[in-house]
Amino acid sequence: MFGWIIPPPKPSKKSKGIFFQERQRKITSLKRMGFLKSKALEEAMLKIPREVFVPFNYRDHTYEELPFPLPGKKATISCPHSYPMFYEAIELSPGDRFLEVGTGSGYGAVLAAEIVGPEGLVTSIEIDHDTFLYAKKRISLFKYPNLFLVKGDGGKGYLLNSPYDKICLTAACNKIPPPLVNQLKEGGKLITPFEVYGKSQDLILLEKKADGKITKRSIEKVLYVPLQGEYGR
Ligand code: SAH
Repeated sequence: MFGWIIPPPKPSKKSKGIFFQERQRKITSLKRMGFLKSKALEEAMLKIPREVFVPFNYRDHTYEELPFPLPGKKATISCPHSYPMFYEAIELSPGDRFLEVGTGSGYGAVLAAEIVGPEGLVTSIEIDHDTFLYAKKRISLFKYPNLFLVKGDGGKGYLLNSPYDKICLTAACNKIPPPLVNQLKEGGKLITPFEVYGKSQDLILLEKKADGKITKRSIEKVLYVPLQGEYGR
């Protein structure tokens, strides 16, 4: 898969205690590397056991910087650093109305629900039936009344819960879906992996200024699965 070497699947043997220690160490290293800055995100990452969202046969590698395949056609659980990389850039905050396109494992959605808190709302959309069921089952282990799951084409957004303060795509597009820009509030931020000429991908931060003007800038080189659906490639 991509440029990573994924270890062979093997049933998980690690205990909750070991996972907790590994989680603490991961957070320390993400802070040291400059990915993780905000207290709200740090607390959410410490609270949510990421291993629950990793398929059982890859679970012992939960806190390594590797993406793992999920049930579904083109779904992976992203590397641990990608969540702070996305959420710090859009400044995901308590009270935000947040839209995630590509629920995948469900880990990012639960982290976001923890961050936005009871005053905020997370809407997360997944296009693949099997991936959707996988995420739903795991998310149901947690109690987040502020987390709303949708099965469908996230490129079209979800008008009913719009407008959004922040939007995040976890799959790469080569054209930012216009409905998502329309459903973004003025002053809002959208982040997405963006494929340049079928080659490399850039992580793009789009801002809709208070006067409605759009600005875009590239943050990093990244590698994500392709966006599917009407605005896919
Ligand atoms: N953040 C997720 C990443 C999942 S990979 C995680 O770490 O678990 C990207 C996901 O986007 C896949 O599950 C894929 O099925 C989904 N996807 C791709 N195109 C989509 C679309 N148009 N609408 C909704 N989900 C989409």
